[in-house]
Amino acid sequence: MEIGVTLPAIFTDLDGTLLDAATYSFDPALPALAEAAVRGVPVVPCTTKTEAETRSWMDRLGLRGPFIFENGAGIALPVREFPDPRPGESPREAYRIVALAPEGARLQEGKVTIRTLAGGRVEFLGELSAPEVAARTGLPLDLAALARRRTFDEPFTCDGDLPADLPAAIAAIGLRLSRGGRFWHLHGPVDKGSAVRRLARELAGRLGPLTVVGAGDSALDRPLLEAADIAVAIPRPDGSFDEELCAGLPFLRRAHAPGPAGWNRAILDILRAG
Ligand SMILES: [Mg+2]
Repeated sequence: MEIGVTLPAIFTDLDGTLLDAATYSFDPALPALAEAAVRGVPVVPCTTKTEAETRSWMDRLGLRGPFIFENGAGIALPVREFPDPRPGESPREAYRIVALAPEGARLQEGKVTIRTLAGGRVEFLGELSAPEVAARTGLPLDLAALARRRTFDEPFTCDGDLPADLPAAIAAIGLRLSRGGRFWHLHGPVDKGSAVRRLARELAGRLGPLTVVGAGDSALDRPLLEAADIAVAIPRPDGSFDEELCAGLPFLRRAHAPGPAGWNRAILDILRAG
């Protein structure tokens, strides 16, 4: 797709991509965020974070548009921009929520399966106290509390490798396992890519043809990059790239630096090419 004749829309992972993997700072990305705002280019977080936690980050980042949360299980649409709810959507304050994954019961079944096969080696984020989540993630306490409120996706850690028979057992109940930067994730049959395609269609309906830009740093972002016209891989803090993210992707752009500094340069290059 020819950039310059279409508006870019930036779909971006947060942790380790727009936010620093250790400090959660996004200061180095401020120039690109400002330039996107001036050009009317949507910046759409696409994250495994919860709806509540992502909304808090939207405020910090100065973003007011839609976002994708819990690894593509839900899309939040600002009522101001998307005023007409449709079946299956629930209004929540200034956002309407589009649910793309089943809630609750099936995830509980998946957690039981994980505990049965991995036993005491497993720790679920949603079962930790807010101070424990803060200690595991480096998040401040208020955000750690929001990170525990999950609807569609259960992050967990496993001391050592996952049991070899676990992925098949999880698939047998219609769920999936994915590896993020910090946690494993148990979730429904959704990913960031399906949510990006759905939301990009909604945005194009309002803004006209879009060039979808996808940016991410871990294997969980692979579907996001596959759904994009321009894919940007952000290196890990040690400068290496997650090959599960990058392998075989045509037209992949590799950012020059980890986190928000690499994001900033890569996004500015794309915006200024237009
Ligand atoms: Mg990430």
